[in-house]
Amino acid sequence: MIRTQPLIVRWILPAVMLLAAVAGCSTNPATGEKQLNWVSADREKSIGAEAAPQFVKQYGGDIPSASIQKYVSDLGHRLAEISERPDLDWEFHAVDSAVINAFALPGGKVFITRGLMEELRSEAQLAGVLGHEVGHVTAQHIGQQMTRAMIITGAGVAIGVAGQQSDEDWMTVLGVGTSVGGGLYLLSYGRNQETQSDELGVRYMTRLGYNPIGQVQVMKVLKRASGGGGAGMEFLATHPYPDTRIKHLNEVIKEQYPDYKDPQKYRVYRDRYQSTVLDELKRLPKATHDPQAQADG
Ligand SMILES: [Zn+2]
Repeated sequence: MIRTQPLIVRWILPAVMLLAAVAGCSTNPATGEKQLNWVSADREKSIGAEAAPQFVKQYGGDIPSASIQKYVSDLGHRLAEISERPDLDWEFHAVDSAVINAFALPGGKVFITRGLMEELRSEAQLAGVLGHEVGHVTAQHIGQQMTRAMIITGAGVAIGVAGQQSDEDWMTVLGVGTSVGGGLYLLSYGRNQETQSDELGVRYMTRLGYNPIGQVQVMKVLKRASGGGGAGMEFLATHPYPDTRIKHLNEVIKEQYPDYKDPQKYRVYRDRYQSTVLDELKRLPKATHDPQAQADG
């Protein structure tokens, strides 16, 4: 009898944990890497569907312009369509916030703020931002983060109830619904995940014929915005290391898209972005969500 207890601890528990890990180990559809992910596609979709309205509301609602929403949504869906996971419940929102940011929820809900759209100068740059966020979704970064969080908060609990955990439990793990500094706080990504999403963003935008240099230009916009403090800080928190990323992106583009300067092959669409987005934004009232203005007032 005395030996039974250590036997369980030494062999059976590790065996159960190993089985659970093996069961949750899969090949990532976008990167081809082996990953530990206990979050099913159905669970991703239901979490995203539940959290998306909160995000939209928190960031000032959708920008009140049917043409801008259609433009962002059409481009986003084209990127999702040529990604490795076209069958998710993709949605693309342009939200009426002065904060400079973009983010994605599991299951394919993607958001870009008015503040960031105002900093961009071409459709290729917009494709870079949306492609990067699509990359976080296709590479299942949040599912992997959530799995890690579950292991840290208690592997026993995770294994025991992984099948039954409610969406609310998952959202608590994610930090969704927690208001920090006027914006919702999402699990931040690791450095490798950002690099992966940068590469996936370039993969998707070039498949649609957009010039990958647009992605580098986005990084420079973010670098400038974060250097200025204020509105850029939130993006800096979730998207650090701009210099490293600019350097890496330039290397990837040189190596994989040596003909990136060919204007027949890769398009930028500066005028279309100007007329559809920038001119239209100027006609609208100021952003509904603006933590800076509230703080100053
Ligand atoms: Zn990112």
